[in-house]
Amino acid sequence: MTINTAPFPTRALPLRLNALLLGTALGFAANQAGAVPVTWDEIQHDQHNTDSVLGYGIGPKAQRYSPMTAINRESVRKLVPAWSFSFGDEKQRGQESQALVHDGVIYVTASYSRLFAIDARTGKQLWSYTHRLPADIRPCCDVVNRGAAIFGDNIYFGTLDASIVALNKDTGKVAWKKKFEDHSAGYTMTGAPTIIKDQNSGRVMLIHGSSGDEFGVVGKLYARDTETGEEIWMRPFVEGHMGRLHGKDSTPTGDPRAPSWPDDADSATGKVEAWSHGGGAPWQSASFDVASNTLIVGAGNPAPWNTWKRTSAGGDPQDYDSLYTSGQVALDPSTGEVKWFYQHTPNDAWDFSGNNELVLFEYDDNGNTIKATGHADRNGFFYVVNRENGDFIRGFPFVDNITWASHIDAASGRPVEVAGQRPPKPKPGEERGEAVEVSPPFLGGKNWNPMAYSQDTGLFYVPANHWKEDYWTEEVNYSKGNAYLGQGFRIKRMFDDHVGILRAIDPKTGKIAWEHKEKLPLWAGVLATKGGLVFTGTGDGYLKAFDSNSGEELWRFQTGSGIVSSPITWEMDGEQYIGIASGYGGAVPLWGGDMAVLTKPVPQGGSFWAFKLADFQ
Ligand code: CA
Repeated sequence: MTINTAPFPTRALPLRLNALLLGTALGFAANQAGAVPVTWDEIQHDQHNTDSVLGYGIGPKAQRYSPMTAINRESVRKLVPAWSFSFGDEKQRGQESQALVHDGVIYVTASYSRLFAIDARTGKQLWSYTHRLPADIRPCCDVVNRGAAIFGDNIYFGTLDASIVALNKDTGKVAWKKKFEDHSAGYTMTGAPTIIKDQNSGRVMLIHGSSGDEFGVVGKLYARDTETGEEIWMRPFVEGHMGRLHGKDSTPTGDPRAPSWPDDADSATGKVEAWSHGGGAPWQSASFDVASNTLIVGAGNPAPWNTWKRTSAGGDPQDYDSLYTSGQVALDPSTGEVKWFYQHTPNDAWDFSGNNELVLFEYDDNGNTIKATGHADRNGFFYVVNRENGDFIRGFPFVDNITWASHIDAASGRPVEVAGQRPPKPKPGEERGEAVEVSPPFLGGKNWNPMAYSQDTGLFYVPANHWKEDYWTEEVNYSKGNAYLGQGFRIKRMFDDHVGILRAIDPKTGKIAWEHKEKLPLWAGVLATKGGLVFTGTGDGYLKAFDSNSGEELWRFQTGSGIVSSPITWEMDGEQYIGIASGYGGAVPLWGGDMAVLTKPVPQGGSFWAFKLADFQ
């Protein structure tokens, strides 16, 4: 038999349907016939392949932008649920996942290290995987997971016991599992891994980091073989710690003497205790610049939070930067070597961290195309950095009333700090230092929940919050598995009428084009579309659509629990869909002080919603 004898024009059909028809003819089960491997080419062009969503950020640049227009400013009023899927169990808590879509299947991770494969047409479960978690896991900020990666026949995700799991995407069977660190020391994994192709070797790799800065981990980024899970390289983000390549020591990160961390003649390492437990965990997803073959990822806060533990006795905190923490790191995917580093918050005293997403975008500057990263930091400033060399281009506030720094110095790219904003040391004989009021608080002018960049408007849509905190130092010594902060806090309200504020911002000027206020904190990601829409979810449970030019709210739908996840869109059978997970939780109800009280009435949940345009006119 040859394909030519088939009584239908199989060659003209899409590959998936073609395979289905042939599979049926040959007597395969229908679910096996749909098993199409995912290629790097599809992942690289994720933003433009509208029938799938293959990576966190929707494309290696992480712009969260879709060229689809069927759902637009006119038609969005007709958006209705197609179906909804319950994650079930009593395992609810925060659902922070961005789903993937491939070949008519939705892959969505859920709280407590679960992953579901769902039929995208019907909402029916195809398979599920629940990771067996030990009792002594130490997630700082709820039992969340932000998503999976997909390549070949596998789907990959990280788990709360510091493991990464590859499952066959068609059956849910475990392909491989790797435990990368000791969960009882505080290592976890909550971010979505990233698939990249090293442009030198042609090798496709799985890139992932870890969480755990609040327990004094040393933050590390890993590259793995997609088929076996074997480590290719590992890069630590505390200066002077040794990297690995092909199972052997490679190079220390930065200067091996680590001059950005002070010495302590009495310690075994010759360094202050903090250096051995210095944080910097890259717990969010990396972006990938294919043209320059560069990985770009945010590094977490230095540990402990208490700045005096990372400053020599009697020294000035601004003399020590605690490299390579609280900044953005560019790496060579062939070797795991650092190409450049730009630090947002030197010797971070506020847990601002640098983890928020790095969005790769280009803009015209007097006829020159500037290749940049856009980054809205927890410290309240929006950064535009030259992604070819790490040079600071500009930084401006994206939230009101920043107290810790007056501005970013244009020449040096360093923040100009306001005196007295590093919480002072306790006075002799006292257990805690005097409280200072700081804004933004450690939860950030914006946290992990990713912004979107529209290629049509040239604007970033930033899900921000207005709040502040009382902040004070406490004595702390490292103890494995215990919180390593050395600071106490109370989050407070800044304005009476809102906490969350969605802002449309011009990255060339810092000008705010429009803003939309929410009573509850914003903790959901954003999606922008060529249909002139901006989608995000709210703490009180709505998925909302806004006009990307004016900010006018055009549509909303109540999902039954708070939304702290990132929306996606895809095309199927000629129709455009919008999808989002619902289920309240994350850091705000756990750590949010006055905001935890504010969000207490939000019901728990755990579901995924799919929407499309209704047939009615
Ligand atoms: Ca942190």
